[in-house]
Amino acid sequence: MPRTKPKETNESVSLNIQHYPWQKAALAHVDAQLADNRQPHATLFRLRKDYDDTMLGWQVIKRILCDSHRADDDCKHCRMIDDALHPNVLFLDVVNTSVDFAPVKKIGIDDVRQIEQKMWQTSMFDKPKIAYINGMDLLSTPAQNALLKTLEEPPKNTFFILSVTDVSHVLPTIMSRVQRLHHGKFSQERLLHWLQHQLSQQLHQPMTEAEIAKVAKLADDAPMRSLALLQSPDLVQQLSREKAQFADFITGKNSAQNLAATFEKGQESVQLARYCRYTENMIHFLFTKSVERHAEANDKMANKTRENSVQYATWKGVSLRALYRLHDTLMELRRLTDTNVNVHLQLTTSLTDWQYERSR
Ligand SMILES: [Zn+2]
Repeated sequence: MPRTKPKETNESVSLNIQHYPWQKAALAHVDAQLADNRQPHATLFRLRKDYDDTMLGWQVIKRILCDSHRADDDCKHCRMIDDALHPNVLFLDVVNTSVDFAPVKKIGIDDVRQIEQKMWQTSMFDKPKIAYINGMDLLSTPAQNALLKTLEEPPKNTFFILSVTDVSHVLPTIMSRVQRLHHGKFSQERLLHWLQHQLSQQLHQPMTEAEIAKVAKLADDAPMRSLALLQSPDLVQQLSREKAQFADFITGKNSAQNLAATFEKGQESVQLARYCRYTENMIHFLFTKSVERHAEANDKMANKTRENSVQYATWKGVSLRALYRLHDTLMELRRLTDTNVNVHLQLTTSLTDWQYERSR
């Protein structure tokens, strides 16, 4: 059971450790390992965007240090972790650039060395020491190398929890020293259930599952972003409008100039990222449809001769190929937002080109 009652002390920081259903599968794996006493010395997992996965690391830490290993018994260790006061836990937050909850400018090799030193010091309560590096892949290569040294010769009775935003940014030598904790599947059905539950405590006007599903789609079914959207109806309206304008542009009902005019200065990259996602979703939809048609055609071929070739699915007359090209164009525009190029001019030109190509 999640701890719902927040601590009301003013002096200590409460971590407000959450227990999310999409982290359940990974935690079940940890539970099984702890029960067998084979918790790996170093665990690494990926931080998914908008899943608040930093909490997963805290849940693992709680399970290791908790007297019952259940992390829900409100024991002394659970409480100390909740209050960010456990002396055996060393937290290095590279994602939010703070050390021990105090903001610093840049996390580097010195911070990693400091952690290493502390890991060698005696632990308290006859419990292991745990270092949690949140966003470990954001460390520089020298800092990662310093960490590698510790992982190669770890002090006794210590654990390392490493979360990363991008696994490909981790030194391969580190990857070979850690055990990866994988996020299990999380169905859309369970997501909707969770969202509905969250909203039932906040909204005075209940939303139907279909309404929630529609908003979640706008957020690519990422739980935290879906929830944030659901809590701001204005934003939902704005995004729905934006999506409709983009769909009209694709079908030719809206001009490239009109679409380019909707881009807010400085926000181009974010908006382009959303257009990329819409396009990806459409590609995925058409691709799935095309595959189904192929399968049907193959079935027919069993008793008929090969007649005409299979037609690829289109969306309101827009082909899969055109959507792929649009996706490339949008990606290229996203890259340009980082440069000094006049983005608005480039947007209008590239999108006009795409529309022209498509209608030919
Ligand atoms: Zn406990």
